[in-house]
Amino acid sequence: MKERADARVWRDQALTACCMAAAAEGDPLLSTARRAALLMDCLAVLRAAHAPERAAQIGMGEFRHGLRGPLGALLPPVPGTADRFDALHLFDKHGLVRDAVQDLCREHLVPHVALERHWPWARVRAEQEERRLYEILRRLSPEEYRRARALLAEHPAGPVRQLSRAWDQLWMRFDFFEAVSDWPWCQLDGWWYPCPICHWPMRVAQHAATTDVRCEAHAARGVHYRRTPGSAGAGPPELVGTGKKATPVRGLPASTEHLALTRPVWRYGALPTLLEVDLRDQVQDLPHVTVEMYPGELRPDEYDLHITVAVPGRRTQHFRVDAKAWESVDALADALLERQPPPYPLTILLPDHQDHERHYLAARLRGRRITVTTLTRLVKRIKTACGVPR
Ligand SMILES: [Zn+2]
Repeated sequence: MKERADARVWRDQALTACCMAAAAEGDPLLSTARRAALLMDCLAVLRAAHAPERAAQIGMGEFRHGLRGPLGALLPPVPGTADRFDALHLFDKHGLVRDAVQDLCREHLVPHVALERHWPWARVRAEQEERRLYEILRRLSPEEYRRARALLAEHPAGPVRQLSRAWDQLWMRFDFFEAVSDWPWCQLDGWWYPCPICHWPMRVAQHAATTDVRCEAHAARGVHYRRTPGSAGAGPPELVGTGKKATPVRGLPASTEHLALTRPVWRYGALPTLLEVDLRDQVQDLPHVTVEMYPGELRPDEYDLHITVAVPGRRTQHFRVDAKAWESVDALADALLERQPPPYPLTILLPDHQDHERHYLAARLRGRRITVTTLTRLVKRIKTACGVPR
């Protein structure tokens, strides 16, 4: 058992090294010398995760080649268990680093001094950052907690004056903002573009002659754009929508006066809130359905939505819902297994694009009275429960 746990840590360490190397390969702003130094450090960390005889075989050529294929070739195996990383690709079909690589890395992070030198976030695992957020939230009164959750979803980025006005008394207590000017990945000629769904900066990706702009969380739902060819002049470059949810957006100056929630707080705070708001909006007007959001007396990390379906003459059904927007369901399973088992049946809500992973997550959580579902599935289930034709 202990051996298997050690093997998982080695595998996570190798995954950390591969994700960071991919991030370095995909960063157009890095000098050749700096990229080479980064890759050497990543390779050293990867080798240390392997048994000595295998480690000696992995050269820089194999490492860089392996990064562009399914990752299985570079990761040490864990005897007797399977995860999805053998088949994982870190680069997309255009050869660009996949959006969620940094989140994946943070979720499986094995801190290592050689890597912290290059990435200041490389010492903080996702679950620690999530816990820090929830510790701050837990100190708030129920009223302030509700307000903070709504603000995470509605005001995650923008001009500092506008943000401090919206966040009001919570502004000084919530030190989770960074200047957009420090984030080159979301800038297009000195401008940034908020996602029309989550309002957080969208990623700018250049391949060949085209420039694509997309929300990392909502591209799957059709939030993606392309820079209009030839549009150059004063003001922000114009974007044309290329997806079905790409409503018109205007660029904002990527200055020190424009702030955005840190990436972990956006991912583990704002995105689940949006998912919960979406669920609430879709079911609250259904007959026999009552929705309670952020029940005040609860510890905030237990569940945020209590949906009751009380059809006369039938047994009342309860759904206690906790939304999660982790990139890696493996890491999410580990984090959930570390908690005390809930004393009630709990529903873990995933975004629709993780539908294919719900069985895997449910299997890892077996015996815990946890149901794993997605937004669309849960809405259907509640409609069936209250007798509305779907
Ligand atoms: Zn978005």
